[in-house]
Amino acid sequence: MQTILLANPRGFCAGVERAIAIVERALEQFGAPIYVRHEVVHNRFVVDGLKAKGAIFIENLADVPPGATLIFSAHGVPESVRSEAARRDFKLFDATCPLVTKVHREVQRLHEQGYQIVMIGHKGHPEVEGTMGQASGGMHLVETVADVALLEPGKAGVGDDPKVVQSKASEPQKFAYVTQTTLSVDDAAEIVAALRLRFPGIVGPKKDDICYATQNRQDAVKAMIGRIDLLLVVGSQTSSNSNRLREVAANAGIAAYLVDGAEQIDPAWLAGKTRIGLTAGASAPEVLVDGVVERLQELGAGQVARLEGVAENVNFPLPKELLSF
Ligand code: SF4
Repeated sequence: MQTILLANPRGFCAGVERAIAIVERALEQFGAPIYVRHEVVHNRFVVDGLKAKGAIFIENLADVPPGATLIFSAHGVPESVRSEAARRDFKLFDATCPLVTKVHREVQRLHEQGYQIVMIGHKGHPEVEGTMGQASGGMHLVETVADVALLEPGKAGVGDDPKVVQSKASEPQKFAYVTQTTLSVDDAAEIVAALRLRFPGIVGPKKDDICYATQNRQDAVKAMIGRIDLLLVVGSQTSSNSNRLREVAANAGIAAYLVDGAEQIDPAWLAGKTRIGLTAGASAPEVLVDGVVERLQELGAGQVARLEGVAENVNFPLPKELLSF
């Protein structure tokens, strides 16, 4: 009979709680439909629940009728989307996580000071598109240590305006870096080290911009290594921080799977295993973890051990206009 070890902390972070509350309160206050640019958080269960209440998820602002209520997702948006929304007649709420907004402000500051900015992140992720869209002259993106060697200073980065780059090329070059908030802490450290080696004067945050929730959830999985022979992560495939949790265990040679919910558990995964670690990404609600525990117990698992972990007391306020309701 297997024991289930529940990681702590796991599941919802303060940014996700705030983003979901903004959509729910907007629905209560203004009624359906409420338009949300991109999945407000990367979780299928959460998004389906909000759709059922009247939220409409869109990628393109052209799909939002004039006068409608529009919410930006927790991942943030490029400046171009913000200005387009401001030009149109929307009632706008911003569910961008304040920790992502902090990185946006940093990019704007560095850009004004003439830095060439390197972003460490995953290509195509909406947070990366949003952060890279804060510098009108464009930024460079690196995903791996190998990408650092391929950087061409002075050449156009993603979204660069060639004229801006030409004028920059004649000036002494200053480099800075920022990171996606949901990276693997270990991978980011290696990439930062490679950047520092290649550009010794590069400036950046003390370590990285990885948020407290991502860091704490990865630490909680690391604390289970050596005590488990299987890890299940509750989270959607699109969730960056959930994928990184699975990788922490997989990189340590432990079988690890990402599941949206109990229905995706393959009983064959449990064969020969004695201690199952269970965690959840920052956008996965606890009800799904409960469902996974129940399913594991149906499949023969026994006791649940709740591990000790860092207490999180982070809270982000809602927009004032939604507080009064
Ligand atoms: S994972 Fe981190 S950055 Fe993303 S919403 Fe949560 S607290 Fe904010």
